[in-house]
Amino acid sequence: MIFKKGGVMTYDPQNIFARILRGEIPCQKIYEDDFALAFYDVNPKTKIHALVIPKAPYTSSFDFYSQAPSDMVIGFSRAISKTVNELGLTQDPGFRLLMNTGPDAGQEVPHFHIHILGGQSIGPMVCPHHGS
Ligand code: 5GP
Repeated sequence: MIFKKGGVMTYDPQNIFARILRGEIPCQKIYEDDFALAFYDVNPKTKIHALVIPKAPYTSSFDFYSQAPSDMVIGFSRAISKTVNELGLTQDPGFRLLMNTGPDAGQEVPHFHIHILGGQSIGPMVCPHHGS
């Protein structure tokens, strides 16, 4: 996912989030600006589960944060906060931001995205095999 033999994985323009960005597949939009699109996860893992994706072809968080220009990184970060605000999650008890990167982390869609999880107690970050 992050690397392929001989270099960094190339971006697949047919991935599902690229198709959402092009308007080929619908989404339940929460927020949009020049840098990012935010929408509800189709299969929510918590009461509130949103995804924020950059409007640029980056495969993963590693790809994005190592390659994207500064204005894109800042614009994307601000879009996360705007989305959190739209979701009404700015007050306690908070929320969780999550970036799955690569197969070990369970990344399914090869277009960089950040999960916003909230609306309920999510519990601790658990790594069941840690130390085993
Ligand atoms: P990942 O496992 O790659 O970090 O997360 C991908 C997320 O995208 C999953 O939570 C999955 O439910 C969500 N997802 C996959 N396909 C679609 C889709 O077509 N529309 C929306 N809104 N979410 C999707």
